[in-house]
Amino acid sequence: MRRRLFRVVPTSGRTAAGPKEGISRRHDPCLPVASFAADKPVSIVLVHGAFVDGSGWQEVFNILLAALKKLCVKPVGVSTDKCESCLRYCFLSGVEMMSRTNLISRRSFCLCCAAASASAATGGWLSPREAYAEARGVVSLVRDSAAVSPIVAHQLRGSISVLEGSGGNIAVLTGPDGNLLVDAGIGVSRTHVTEALDKLSADPVTHLINTHWHFDHADGNAWLGALGAKITAHENTRKYLSQVQRVEDYDYNFLPLPIDGLPSDVFANEHAIKVNRASVGMKYYGSAHTDSDISVTFAEADIVHVGDTYWNGLYPFIDYSTGGSIDGMIAASDANLAATTDKTIIIPGHGKPASNRAELQEFRDMLVAVRENVAKLKKQGRSRDETVAAKPTATFDAKWGNSVIDPGFFTRLVYQGV
Ligand SMILES: [Zn+2]
Repeated sequence: MRRRLFRVVPTSGRTAAGPKEGISRRHDPCLPVASFAADKPVSIVLVHGAFVDGSGWQEVFNILLAALKKLCVKPVGVSTDKCESCLRYCFLSGVEMMSRTNLISRRSFCLCCAAASASAATGGWLSPREAYAEARGVVSLVRDSAAVSPIVAHQLRGSISVLEGSGGNIAVLTGPDGNLLVDAGIGVSRTHVTEALDKLSADPVTHLINTHWHFDHADGNAWLGALGAKITAHENTRKYLSQVQRVEDYDYNFLPLPIDGLPSDVFANEHAIKVNRASVGMKYYGSAHTDSDISVTFAEADIVHVGDTYWNGLYPFIDYSTGGSIDGMIAASDANLAATTDKTIIIPGHGKPASNRAELQEFRDMLVAVRENVAKLKKQGRSRDETVAAKPTATFDAKWGNSVIDPGFFTRLVYQGV
């Protein structure tokens, strides 16, 4: 029998309750929560919560949400305010239980305080180490890799460079107004990104633009925003970064960023700013890789960062959880081709960071061909697994299929959208 880290107990009379209460009734999907009267608030007790003190806390949160889901309990509000008692992270300002909303106090959900109250109950529950290991997924692996990756700077044209090595490619425009970044990478790369920026310019980062909300492009918002960078993005990016956001295909729940890391300057369709004497234009794609993607164009230098609408030499991820689709990806590729010439330097979200229109055309043609192959199989009535087995990407795999988005993963993503 699997052991669990979490139990749910009624707020009133919270005790070091035995394993018969709450989630410890184990593996009953959609367990009737009769013992938690639906109009009464609940609190969450974390037996070993005190270790939530560093990089592991997001993983713990994921386990917590998974446990709640099995009880048909859905969190509806989240806070990353600090707890007045212990000054560590507290979250969940309310839960929706059996489709009713119950507001509860934040302190009921304080990980470390709750842990102390339940520390007596340990038998049969996951240890922190076990829980942490269980929660490792694609996202954690990407994060771990970023923590140790060197950051490589490539000078492109004029005062524009690109940094490679922290999640998505980061464009940098230097000059007297301070550095402008397009995307922020992953927070754990802060030291390496800072070193790389210091070599380009002694000035601080004063502007940051997010191409979309994904963590490998916006996680670094937290430290850059705290240092004073003004953050600009599409309005959906702000929305997704402000709330718990689940990405189904990563099996991961992303926590909201702290206020400092949220874009303060958002727009719906187009936006333009002048920084370091450069005209910086931003344009919304509509539904593409997500529904928060924008392109960022440096007009004078003829350089465009197209975010994750283009993965250079890699099958792309498509995030259906937040409005992405294969048809949107193809439409975005067509828009990128229309907006560029043979002289334009195109910065992809991932892959070799300085690309061009010919390579982009190849990416677009690959998307169209795979879409057609997958649609044909789906129309014949093939299931998703049968479609993967038929290898509709075979002729493209040697060039595009060598990353975490492997041929099977990409086929499943396309299948979902045709
Ligand atoms: Zn992305």
